Amino acid sequence: MSSIANTKSPGGKTICVTGGAGFLGSHLCERLVADGNWVVCLDNFHTGRPENVARLTRSNRFHLIEHDVVEPLPSELPAFDEIYNLACPASPVHYQSNPVRTALICAEGALNVLERAQRDGARVMHASTSEVYGDPDIHPQPESYFGNVNTVGPRSCYDEGKRFAETLFTDYAKQSDLTVKIVRIFNTYGPRMQPDDGRVVSNFVLQALRDEDITVFGDGSQTRSFCYVDDLIEGFVRLMASGEEVSGPVNIGNPAEITVEELAETVIELTGSHSRIVHRALPVDDPRRRRPDITRAQQMLGWSPQVRLVDGLARTVRYFSSAGLRRPLHSTDTAQFAPV
Ligand code: NAD
Ligand code: UDP
Repeated sequence: MSSIANTKSPGGKTICVTGGAGFLGSHLCERLVADGNWVVCLDNFHTGRPENVARLTRSNRFHLIEHDVVEPLPSELPAFDEIYNLACPASPVHYQSNPVRTALICAEGALNVLERAQRDGARVMHASTSEVYGDPDIHPQPESYFGNVNTVGPRSCYDEGKRFAETLFTDYAKQSDLTVKIVRIFNTYGPRMQPDDGRVVSNFVLQALRDEDITVFGDGSQTRSFCYVDDLIEGFVRLMASGEEVSGPVNIGNPAEITVEELAETVIELTGSHSRIVHRALPVDDPRRRRPDITRAQQMLGWSPQVRLVDGLARTVRYFSSAGLRRPLHSTDTAQFAPV
């Protein structure tokens, strides 16, 4: 730890990424280091893995520290210029496994990040979610939409936790001189998605690669709009760099909307799989439609997604197939997916 305290990059910013060993966090850390910054990744490895950032640990501009954000950020680290707050279980399987803790991570993690940002005078960006819109009755969803969230359903710990964190970030900024950014992330996919977290893209790709049944929940008519991870990270960096005129939440996602049934068919076609589509029960409170209105991101950040779904899916399929997946997956096998 002392070597970290004494090390400072010549040039570049000193940036903290909480949850940096997860799917999105690892891509963000890679991007920030490649841009010449000095990056500290804080993660408790609940759903993330050190292997996700293994390549970065060879750089003296990257430091991985095991830390739980429900505790104050380690005081012995140098002052940060920027903090990205991503630490939180993100897939329904994981965030519902201990809902009380999920809600507390959203709240206490946000507060600890804000207090550290205040101490350091850091800009801070919070990873919020399209789940703040719940099962939306406005389509597509602009940032001005207040949402339709069940406060006591199985998704509430995450949805309400993220909504509360948005409130905390906003009010903390009002009561201080902090620069706060809030990104509402829509479904994102790509290499380093966890194979065991039950998200639809990783599930379908893995099932297709193994010629297993593809499990479409409900009748498959529900929609999502999938954003490739590189596009999302570009949006993060632009939002963090944006001026004071960009305040309030900003949707980042790909507005190309697709039904879950169509996604299953596309994955089968891309992989040349012999899988059949089977239908399973729709989870409680599963949103029926979701599509971002990205007008704010386009106008204020000059950001638009660049990667088409078929291209992003092809890269994701290459990632999962590179680990030799044409056999059943056991939970202990997950480490094999880390390198990209
Ligand atoms: P992920 O599970 O891969 O990453 C989350 C990371 O946070 C993991 O590395 C995990 O170990 C870490 N973490 C969890 N609890 C922690 C704690 N208490 N202290 C420290 N670290 C902790 O998920 P992801 O998809 O990379 O999501 C990253 C962020 O983006 C999350 O905040 C999530 O809510 C948000 N988000 C993601 C998506 C998406 O489509 N991937 C959509 C909306 C919002
Ligand atoms: N889904 C599905 N089969 C799966 C996993 C998910 O049909 O094996 C559906 C799920 O019910 C939802 C959509 O795919 O309608 C997206 O699910 P995911 O968990 O990836 O994201 P979220 O629901 O949080 O947007």
